[in-house]
Amino acid sequence: MHTIIEPFRIKSVEPIYFTTREQRELILRSAFHNPFFIHSKDVLIDLLTDSGTSAMSSNQWAAVMLGDESYAGSPSFFKFENAVKDITGMPLVIPTHQGRAAEKIIFSILGSKGKYFLSNTLFDTTRANIEFSGAEGIDLVCEEGKHPSIPAPFKGNMDLEALRREIIRLGAEHIPMVIVTITNNSGGGQPVSMENIRATSKICAEFGIPMFIDACRFAENAYFIKLREEGYADKPVYDIVREMFSYADGCTMSAKKDAFANIGGFLAMRDADLALHCRNLLIITEGFPTYGGLAGRDLEAVAVGLYEVMDEHYLRYRIRTTEYLTEKLIAAGVPVMQPAGGHAVYLDAKAFLPHIPIEAYPGQALACALYLEGGIRGVEIGSLMFGKYDADHQLIPAALELVRLAIPRRVYTQSHIDYVAEVIIGVFEKRRDIRGLRIVEEAPMLRHFTAKLEQID
Ligand SMILES: *Cc1c(COP(=O)(O)O)cnc(C)c1O
Repeated sequence: MHTIIEPFRIKSVEPIYFTTREQRELILRSAFHNPFFIHSKDVLIDLLTDSGTSAMSSNQWAAVMLGDESYAGSPSFFKFENAVKDITGMPLVIPTHQGRAAEKIIFSILGSKGKYFLSNTLFDTTRANIEFSGAEGIDLVCEEGKHPSIPAPFKGNMDLEALRREIIRLGAEHIPMVIVTITNNSGGGQPVSMENIRATSKICAEFGIPMFIDACRFAENAYFIKLREEGYADKPVYDIVREMFSYADGCTMSAKKDAFANIGGFLAMRDADLALHCRNLLIITEGFPTYGGLAGRDLEAVAVGLYEVMDEHYLRYRIRTTEYLTEKLIAAGVPVMQPAGGHAVYLDAKAFLPHIPIEAYPGQALACALYLEGGIRGVEIGSLMFGKYDADHQLIPAALELVRLAIPRRVYTQSHIDYVAEVIIGVFEKRRDIRGLRIVEEAPMLRHFTAKLEQID
């Protein structure tokens, strides 16, 4: 078979900036060993996130120029609305400025103290919005999803037995909604099977609980179904997408992911009463229902992007990119989450740096080492991000110590990815020289964004 190539050519380029190792040493120290403090101009390959970092197509940029900025009833809104209706099959569409704004609206309405939201895995902003309403979020990912080094086709699945058990234990009347996140971002970008979505929706229907999809990476999930689930190999991605949404009562989406937009999101649903409540809140937080916190040009870019992302040449290249990088790392013995997720590669920092105790944040140390070695920026997903303290101020570690390398859509070429693999392998060969870190300053919540650290001698 031939090489799977980037299914685009490049019309406009953006420079990236090279630094020397000496410069990066200084930069890292003045950034307090926290990549969030590094200026993006000092980063060569930026794998901090795949959110809002996509390259838009010439068709999206052309659509941007068609953006109609009328306050009410803009044709740009109707293009957006038609695209979302067509793809999700849901009649009621509410634009928001990004995914978490959609979450804020729906959970303000449905959440309160004594309520529970069950999910395969809630994304961190989703969980934060649920908890902010006073409700509780409960993750019920399947057993395979808990073991990073053991491959399985659908590690993002809901544990169906646990779902039924929790509904019975908590009482259906206390559960306003079940949320299926596709792909499972916090669970390593792992997909959810059609069978699992269907079975989850059946259990929800049995108890009269609405099921929503967190649809940020709907196209990547559909492509995994096509590749891995029996009976879907010959179905077009569009049909698979329509089937996934057919089992849901509604969805939230960040258009900064699988819509190739730099900003945007939406809520879509079937229940007119709920939509009325949502629109009332939308007007006081985001804007009038035909723009919802977005410019007309953003609505146009999203409407085009939602179709482009279902192109199978694109999806094949997209999924192959993370798989290709993962394969190279496995061949060199680098500990990495398996199989590759849709949007990111995850290094297992605990296994990579066994000489660094968890209290010295091996994930953060590894993220810093990748920057120092090759100007690559990733993000720690471990005890700096999720760790808590007990009553004696001892660290309660996270379940896993990972470094996530998220791949922006259509931005980097194969030689960039080859370079990333070389740098990681180079760091792996010198891993014994990497030292742990200690926190010198931290915030009480979401501390990973602003924590300051120093190297331990
Ligand atoms: C990014 C993301 C969100 C939140 O979207 P924003 O546009 O960043 O507010 C919600 N859920 C998942 C699964 C995500 O990946």
